[in-house]
Amino acid sequence: MNPIPLQHIVIVGGGSAGWMAANMLAHQWGPRGARITLLESSDIGIIGVGEGSTPYLRQFFARLNISEAEWMPACNASYKCGIRFPNWSEVQGYESYVHPFFNQADLAIGSEFFTNACLRRRGSEVDANPQDFFIAAELARQRRAPHYLPRKDGKPSQATDYAYHFDAGLLGQFLRKHALKLGVSHLIGTVNQVRQLENGDIQSLQLADGTVLDGDLFIDCSGFRGLLINETLGEPFLSFADNLFNDRAIAIPTALPEDEDIPSETVSSALKHGWAWQIPLSHRFGNGYVYASSFVSDEEAERELRAFLGPAAEGQTARRLQMRVGRVAQHWRNNCLAIGLSQGFIEPLEATALMLIQFSVELFIAEMEQGQFSRQRQAPFNRRINQMFEGVRDYVVTHYQLNTREDSDYWRENRANRKISDRLASILEVWDRGGDFESELTRHGDDLMYIRPSWYCLLAGMGRFPARLQASKASPAPLGKEPARRSLEQMAQQFYGHRQYLQLLAQH
Ligand SMILES: Cc1cc2nc3c(=O)[nH]c(=O)nc-3n(C[C@H](O)[C@H](O)[C@H](O)COP(=O)(O)OP(=O)(O)OC[C@H]3O[C@@H](n4cnc5c(N)ncnc54)[C@H](O)[C@@H]3O)c2cc1C
Repeated sequence: MNPIPLQHIVIVGGGSAGWMAANMLAHQWGPRGARITLLESSDIGIIGVGEGSTPYLRQFFARLNISEAEWMPACNASYKCGIRFPNWSEVQGYESYVHPFFNQADLAIGSEFFTNACLRRRGSEVDANPQDFFIAAELARQRRAPHYLPRKDGKPSQATDYAYHFDAGLLGQFLRKHALKLGVSHLIGTVNQVRQLENGDIQSLQLADGTVLDGDLFIDCSGFRGLLINETLGEPFLSFADNLFNDRAIAIPTALPEDEDIPSETVSSALKHGWAWQIPLSHRFGNGYVYASSFVSDEEAERELRAFLGPAAEGQTARRLQMRVGRVAQHWRNNCLAIGLSQGFIEPLEATALMLIQFSVELFIAEMEQGQFSRQRQAPFNRRINQMFEGVRDYVVTHYQLNTREDSDYWRENRANRKISDRLASILEVWDRGGDFESELTRHGDDLMYIRPSWYCLLAGMGRFPARLQASKASPAPLGKEPARRSLEQMAQQFYGHRQYLQLLAQH
């Protein structure tokens, strides 16, 4: 193996971003001689939320050869088959819908949903709520794990896709232990001065106790403040406040009833000034309210969340958080790479932050290797990461654009907001006029972070059907929700119960 020219990589920050980066870099470059140090402050805490993932996290653990039996019980993790969105829409029959993760089993019934969604948006009276057509939605409804029971005939089961819920603090501890095994050095200290070379590169960090830390590459995982990327290098932060109004969150954990099975979906319910997440871990619920401080005070938001959670929240302490929503202009600049909240954050509606962390580190590794460890790949790297942030932003903004709630200015103003990207405006226009939606999605290609099924689920799931219903049904008659649900109900019997499967994992 060729040695790499990066001798010392210094990571500032011991939150999820820091430890994910440390593991990936140590796995990739440790064997080729790179020394990696992670520094975190005992005076500045981690954000400590972030309990839901996308399916992409499976590849993170696979890359590190960490099995589910190893990490999931250690992090009180559970399975996530998708996200349910109650009360975003007031359209009859679409008051709640599911954004499922897609499975091979969906080739049968799920594909009918797309036909129905197209017919429905052109006015045919057919069923088009995704929660009635996808196996993941049914698994969540029955509180099952996305793992098949062993087949009697010994044949391999169909592939299923899914994501996870986990305790963010425990995940950090697990990743720390693993990184230490891979040879990462761990330092506790607070940076109070950064020395730079004439060309702006970071030369060293000075800690409060006087220690000086040199490095070739500095990874800024310092959270929202962006200690290196913003405060030191002066990289501008581009706010998304024009399209995403939410800038605050309140988190309150509650108990998980032991006599019930564990839900296998995130529930993101719209409230009066934002939305509340409910994330089932194996031992408790993580709950929180994401809202806009320009529409509601922190006190009122907390009252609203407590009322929503009911007696389960009595006596539980609330944590209040501020969010910096947007992204930096360049994520990799000089010899500094920003990863995690320091590089940007899109509010957690689709739980995409860890995915963006993982993708950024993976792409950085690939670009560095392709550019022979020079900076020649900096520009394409930054372009691609920006494209990802904007792709995720557009998909999240769409939820607000499509809402049909009338109970507050928050929802009315979100719906009326015209400060959206040209791309999103065009997608909505083509959908609304009954145009060629497939070509529209294809036209945007990689700019859309979300694949075709996700767009259909969101638009149809929220009941965005501008064409008036025509009396006659479409011909030939499409699959109705009742027969679809019956088939899915049967199919779901082939899967483990959620608690049962988590217990099996814990026994391994
Ligand atoms: C309300 C909310 C909900 C979220 N939900 C999700 C979700 O469901 N899914 C998801 O993927 N993500 C979610 N996220 C995002 C997720 O929490 C973060 O992306 C993730 O935890 C990474 O954070 P971080 O490591 O970048 O920063 P932090 O956790 O803030 O860590 C910062 C680190 O930097 C260190 N540091 C700072 N300054 C210094 C200094 N001067 N010297 C030394 N060290 C320093 C601190 O000690 C700390 O270790 C959510 C975020 C919020 C706000």
